[in-house]
Amino acid sequence: MQQFQHYIDGAFSEGDAQFDSLDPATGQPWARMPEARVADVDAAVDAAERCFFSAEWAGMTATARGKLLYRLAELIADHAGRLAELETRDTGKIIRETSAQIAYVADFYRYYAGLADKIEGAHLPIDKPDMEVWLRREPVGVVAAIVPWNSQLFLSAVKIGPALAAGCTVVLKASEDAPAPMLEFARIFDQAGFPKGVLNVITGGPEVGARLSSHPKVAHVAFTGGPDTARHIVRNSAENLASTSLELGGKSPFIVFEDADLDSAVNAQVSGIFAATGQSCVAGSRLVVQASVKDDVLARLKAKAEAVVIGPPSEMGTEVGPLCTARQREAIIALTNRAVQQGARLVTGGAALDREGYYFPPTILDCSEARGADSLVEEFFGPVLSVVSFETEEEAIAIANDTRYGLASGLFTQNLTRAHRMIRAIRAGIVWVNTYRAVSPIAPFGGHGLSGHGREGGLQAALDYTKVKSVWLRTSDDPIPDPFVMR
Ligand code: NAD
Repeated sequence: MQQFQHYIDGAFSEGDAQFDSLDPATGQPWARMPEARVADVDAAVDAAERCFFSAEWAGMTATARGKLLYRLAELIADHAGRLAELETRDTGKIIRETSAQIAYVADFYRYYAGLADKIEGAHLPIDKPDMEVWLRREPVGVVAAIVPWNSQLFLSAVKIGPALAAGCTVVLKASEDAPAPMLEFARIFDQAGFPKGVLNVITGGPEVGARLSSHPKVAHVAFTGGPDTARHIVRNSAENLASTSLELGGKSPFIVFEDADLDSAVNAQVSGIFAATGQSCVAGSRLVVQASVKDDVLARLKAKAEAVVIGPPSEMGTEVGPLCTARQREAIIALTNRAVQQGARLVTGGAALDREGYYFPPTILDCSEARGADSLVEEFFGPVLSVVSFETEEEAIAIANDTRYGLASGLFTQNLTRAHRMIRAIRAGIVWVNTYRAVSPIAPFGGHGLSGHGREGGLQAALDYTKVKSVWLRTSDDPIPDPFVMR
């Protein structure tokens, strides 16, 4: 079995404890992973703090930081094959997706490499004649980054990229379910030439995450995961009054009007819910379809869902692979069964496949006659689409917004004025019109409500890793007058 290592203060180690990581395609152990202890968390945070204040990192120009990030992006591109392969092996995400995703992970680092020396302060036109006042943008400090199993290389890039561009240092906790891609990433990062301690990568479960997010030396916690864990993170961060950015789940509406290009809408919906075996925070998991085209759309979706190639994630021809863990599959089966008991009609799928590994087929639940079904409210984080129909635009808006989440949404219509009305009315951090699941380093990404707060991607994400320092400089040589009058 392959043995992976932690990366703390520029050194690799197997740690005092290890655990087996399971291959989701077989359910069998395939690699040994280090399991961090509280002492490892402390060592990683101490290293990050030492580095943060070191002349080597704090004294480095932003341009030089950008060059290092650029070098990292090139190394990721050079090692893309190995990173994609490991992500597929440990998480079950199909190789077609991990290979494509790793290319834009490199693009995200390139974007933040270029941004590093464009994070500017400001000069203020202050209302006093003998003062110069300006704002410095300074890095917040040590960042704790915590990620779930799915798309870890991507979800960590949108934290590490802007944090390092801003001059912070980072301790990243990989998912205990599949840490291999992040531990391999650390090996590649080490070759880029950053000072030791800039990035530390550890693994471990809730205890490690709790220590990291409540650590007194951590200034900001950047978290991706579920809302229940996010509540712990917020409580933990209160220990240090650290700031937080929370990228949580979703129950995103995918709205199709009768005038839509139905071929495009159906293809986008198939990828929106079945890609990544539905383990995507932006999964378009609620199809909100106009009643007049519902039967047509459902028939097309059923045909496509049943034609999907389910197989080993390592094969290029596979379109849907296994779920990451047995636990995840059990949760999806339970929620599907509950929906059927609550009156949802099973259009296709619904039962685990009789083969080794954590496979579950593309599944469609028609909830039009079961509007109270939990499947319309709860996130599956799996390949299950819940369908509900509407008659009018107002009804479509009401259904779309009937969720405590607010991450993504899709809208398919050819009617321009309606599209604009809908864009205003939909409560979500992202609205994709006549497309779905598009991402770019340039566009901010995030939600509200149970989907969290803060934005990843774009300039704003880098600014969120800075704090503003106001500097006042008196330009007059005259003695300071009356000491008891505020100036
Ligand atoms: P999770 O919340 O269970 O775990 C996420 C991470 O938090 C893991 O690394 C875990 O070890 C850590 N953790 C667990 N308990 C902790 C604690 N008490 N303190 C600190 N850290 C702790 O999430 P998951 O089940 O691994 O992932 C699925 C969830 O992630 C879904 O809800 C999904 O929607 C969400 N997600 C969101 C996005 C996004 O960008 N919005 C992207 C991917 C996944």
